[in-house]
Amino acid sequence: MDFDIKTNEKGNLSIGGADAVELSEKYDTPLYVIDEEKIRENYKRVYGAFSAQYKDFKIFYACKANTNLAVMRILEQEGSGIDAVSPGEIYTALLAGFEPERVLYTGNNATDKELKFAVDSGVIINLDSVSALHRLTKICNPNEVKISFRINPKVGAGHHEHCITGGYLSKFGIMEEEAVEVYQRAANMGYNIVGIHTHIGSGILDPEPFMLAVETLMDVAGRVHQETNIDLEFIDFGGGLGIPYTLEDSKLDIETFSREITDLYKSKLNEYDLGKPTMCIEPGRYIVGDASILLTRVNTIKQSYRKFAGVDAGFNTLLRPSMYGSYHHIVAVNKPDAKNTQTIDIAGNICESGDLFARDRPMPEIEEGDILAIFNAGAYAFSMSSQYNSRPKTMEVLVNNGKSEVIRERETFADVLAKQNVPVRLLK
Ligand SMILES: *Cc1c(COP(=O)(O)O)cnc(C)c1O
Repeated sequence: MDFDIKTNEKGNLSIGGADAVELSEKYDTPLYVIDEEKIRENYKRVYGAFSAQYKDFKIFYACKANTNLAVMRILEQEGSGIDAVSPGEIYTALLAGFEPERVLYTGNNATDKELKFAVDSGVIINLDSVSALHRLTKICNPNEVKISFRINPKVGAGHHEHCITGGYLSKFGIMEEEAVEVYQRAANMGYNIVGIHTHIGSGILDPEPFMLAVETLMDVAGRVHQETNIDLEFIDFGGGLGIPYTLEDSKLDIETFSREITDLYKSKLNEYDLGKPTMCIEPGRYIVGDASILLTRVNTIKQSYRKFAGVDAGFNTLLRPSMYGSYHHIVAVNKPDAKNTQTIDIAGNICESGDLFARDRPMPEIEEGDILAIFNAGAYAFSMSSQYNSRPKTMEVLVNNGKSEVIRERETFADVLAKQNVPVRLLK
């Protein structure tokens, strides 16, 4: 098993030194609990591994995984940059204290208004299409704007079809065959061209497709440099570094992974005489995924044609199991080490039959009132949550050294309705 399940002296699940049973009593459920130290450790592990091999190395944390401002502050303190995929994420990053030059805007199908927002924010703009380049040119002074291009290197990878962002079927990036021409065109327009980028998918535990993408991107960067004379300041391989979700998954061996990538990187820099550009990656999941658990209370045990444990969270709170069929490990927080004695379906409280956290899950005896912890709830969890079924979004607390602080309050019914307007003629 490649992730930690820590218990304290009471035998309860412990996270960041805090007792999960006590947290659920203090704050109620559902509740996201985020472990600050874990985020810092994860960041330092990747940063340390890569920068030991190649000094000029940068991480752009892909903040769509988790945009909580406290999480962003932690990563700002660690020295990270931000990969932002929307104007809202640019806004969040700047509010969290990241200087514009530490923010890379990787939009897709961006509108002119969104491009203008990025220009006015002063961030680096990573273009996803030739269309965006031409539209950008109408709304900015090219020599005042730093740009890069996202390349689709024909390879893709990921834990689910929906998470593959490279390859022939992918909507992302420009074709590698058109890269030289597009870079030349942008140079002729007078842009400050600073980089080249790719991102092939998410949840990658097998280094092979990632290596292939690195190799292809380096070959494209080499051709661009040799045929256009553009000096690239950074080469960005995107995110996608996976984490173990099931008990059988093994951890990405970050030492080997970073060594293989940097070795290839350095040899390609030499081959194409590319100088010494900054090497960048954009992990999201790897930094925050295993730093959080979702606590949810069992409110109903029901023997129907199958046995169900009904809980007070649903796919409005954590979408991944319903959306991707993802496995999330689940334990009872008052007895995380208890032996499994049954298989049971763990169902949410949303009116959809797809609202299941687990089907036929081996579990110990659980009773109504028990609190369950759903693991690996730090990435694409709160950030994908919704108010479906008019359920207010849930609360987030940050734990550090056994202390907990609320970093997002629980929404109220009034919050759910806050932006609605009823025309006067319809009022009662
Ligand atoms: C989503 C995304 C990432 C991060 O993906 P992870 O799998 O969370 O590491 C990185 N770069 C871009 C452009 C993305 O869209």
